[in-house]
Amino acid sequence: MKEKIKKLMPDKVILSACIALILTSFIYDGYIFYKMRDLNISLENQVATYKQALSITQNNLFKVRGEKDAILTILGAERQNNSYIQSQIQDITSTVGQLQKLSQTDVELLKKYSKVYFLNENYVPPRLSAIEDRYLNIKNKPLEILSDIYPKLKLMLDDAKAQGVDIQILSAYRSFSTQAGLKSAYKVTYGYGANKFSADQGYSEHQLGTTIDFTTPKIGSVLTGFEKTDAYKWLTANAYKYGFILSYPKNNTYYIYEPWHWRFVGVTLATRLHDQNLNFYDVSQRDIDQYLANIFD
Ligand SMILES: [Zn+2]
Repeated sequence: MKEKIKKLMPDKVILSACIALILTSFIYDGYIFYKMRDLNISLENQVATYKQALSITQNNLFKVRGEKDAILTILGAERQNNSYIQSQIQDITSTVGQLQKLSQTDVELLKKYSKVYFLNENYVPPRLSAIEDRYLNIKNKPLEILSDIYPKLKLMLDDAKAQGVDIQILSAYRSFSTQAGLKSAYKVTYGYGANKFSADQGYSEHQLGTTIDFTTPKIGSVLTGFEKTDAYKWLTANAYKYGFILSYPKNNTYYIYEPWHWRFVGVTLATRLHDQNLNFYDVSQRDIDQYLANIFD
């Protein structure tokens, strides 16, 4: 049998087949190698293309981000500008409002009366209200007050009463001629010493319609002794909250001590005078005038 195979497949044939097999294997390997190399090159090319695309995209992104930042900066500047304009409009509106209020407010209301500045004899407050009887010390003697401050006066007297302190009104608005009559009546009784009791006509705060002389049922229709009453004590502690101040406190250098005589100057100014322990007549007129526009607030 072996012999038979040997005859069919001689050694040469086997050798040739082996060589052919090896050669085929080399050729195939070579083919695979070249194929792989091509594939590798192709992949590298694709990676390079993607890298380039990525870099372009990144550049574009940077550009867009830069543009976005620039737009945000412009937007921020515009917003700032808008809020500045808005605040300017608010300032102008409030200034116009203040000027409007000021133009409608009587300039005499916060004047300090002195030998230099006094009221014209024709001056009459623009609006006067009759004071209700229940606030008066003498019921059949009608009194008037500047209408704008009447609600504050009523509130003050009602609050005092609710706290057990009965404060009554003895005198309020007095015209130039009433003041002149009062003064001459005092002069008849007291001679030139009347200056100590009653201001000359034209210097009286009563002509403004914002000033009140208070009393209590206990002391009645006189002014003396008022500083010893609970009413005076209450007014000293509370009147500023309603805008009233004592025009001529003890030891003032301007006029005699008048504990009964209270003038309306507005809540803001009255509170400042109270808190800083200042007298109205000791503050400069320029300083006081700043409170005029908001006197009725
Ligand atoms: Zn008075």
